[in-house]
Amino acid sequence: MANRYITTPIYYVNDVPHIGHAYTTIAADVLNRYYKQQGDNSFFLTGTDEHGAKIAEAANRAGKEPQAFVDDLVSQFKKAWESLDIKYDGFIRTTDKKHEEVVTEVIEKLKEAGYVEKRKYEGLYCVGCEKFISEDELEDGKCPHHDKKPVKHSEENHFFLLSKLEKELLKVIESDEFEIAPVARKNEIVGKIKQGLEDVSISRQAVEWGVKFPGDDTQTVYVWVDALINYYSATRIIEGITWPADLHLIGKDILWFHAVIWPAMLIVIGEKLPKKVFAHGFFTIGGRKMSKSLGNAIDPIALASKYGADVVRYAILREFPFGEDGDISEKKIAERYNNDLGNELGNLLQRTLSMVERYEIKIEKTKPNVIGDCQKKMMENLEFEKRLEAIWGVVKKGNQFIEENKPWELAKTDEKKLTDVLQEVYDSLVTVASHLEPFMPQTAEKMKKQLETLKPEPLFPRIENE
Ligand SMILES: [Zn+2]
Repeated sequence: MANRYITTPIYYVNDVPHIGHAYTTIAADVLNRYYKQQGDNSFFLTGTDEHGAKIAEAANRAGKEPQAFVDDLVSQFKKAWESLDIKYDGFIRTTDKKHEEVVTEVIEKLKEAGYVEKRKYEGLYCVGCEKFISEDELEDGKCPHHDKKPVKHSEENHFFLLSKLEKELLKVIESDEFEIAPVARKNEIVGKIKQGLEDVSISRQAVEWGVKFPGDDTQTVYVWVDALINYYSATRIIEGITWPADLHLIGKDILWFHAVIWPAMLIVIGEKLPKKVFAHGFFTIGGRKMSKSLGNAIDPIALASKYGADVVRYAILREFPFGEDGDISEKKIAERYNNDLGNELGNLLQRTLSMVERYEIKIEKTKPNVIGDCQKKMMENLEFEKRLEAIWGVVKKGNQFIEENKPWELAKTDEKKLTDVLQEVYDSLVTVASHLEPFMPQTAEKMKKQLETLKPEPLFPRIENE
């Protein structure tokens, strides 16, 4: 029995959850459910990042105190995860006093080790990213993530001496002692480190909504540093997890923090490194970049209430490889619903059980096939779309097998063969239900029930689109 500790980023609660947050969190939930199904002792942590200037501003605009503002948003995140049938084992909030204590402790250790220095800093700052941004990161003079011009900003900050850690970082990354996946991302990071690392500011002067910087009341801990520490502080706050994490699941936009700054901090404080960071791709919505200003952000809660949690989970993991960029839209989700789920899976279950009922077949209740090594590898590599494709291979074969053997004709001619054919399809449905469980827990449950009672009911009744 292996111990597994899987994390998502803690989400910044300056706004309601969107489909991008849902993507990472669904993936973590699928993995966690899969490992538990395999008998592992798996723990899935998610949470919320609640400090920083952007949150204080958003609270101010909403006419609320920051704490009341974040409390409200946290409940919206929790509601979103519930509507997508996401079962995390732990939820951490950076406004938790115990987390704040661990942040203080980590900063103190960085200082004691001689890796923190106070300096004057001047640079371009993106308010959206809450970070200083270098000239070569800009596109047309704007932050590529926020499509906004950065502002000139100068202040005195405490710096983490990241530049001293180049060698150590390269050693752990190149040897995969600290694995960065997919490998293209690892190469990208190795290339950047080899160009040289700059020291990074880890405090803010004018930001009050945060953890006080130890030994300097005029500064708060930079929100990114505060947030990264959650993965570690959680192991001290929540029962059932031990450091290090096995897997940090993240979006590729926050890879630098997770692949460079975070392990560097851990090296300095003498803690173990997480085993792996996996950066997934981004999606466009119907061919266009998702953005609030374009108004094309899709609401995961609305989608789940229209199609069901399982359908959203299935559609977004099936559409394109997890480590790459791709496109998603409600139209694509609706197509998956009607085709893969309704016409293929739902139809196979319904027609099989209907024939079992009609021809009064004596079905032997069987156990699912175990997951093969090749399929396990896909899960280990987070190749969700391949894994789902493989499961759908079995579904398609089942429908084909029925077409070829025509049980409705066998019913008149060969009762023995009729029983064999339907038993074979029944067995593969038992396996499909079990293998789908991590991805589509509610569907798997419904399938299991029907396979037990042998009473067919539609799994994915047609939705009429307005
Ligand atoms: Zn930005």
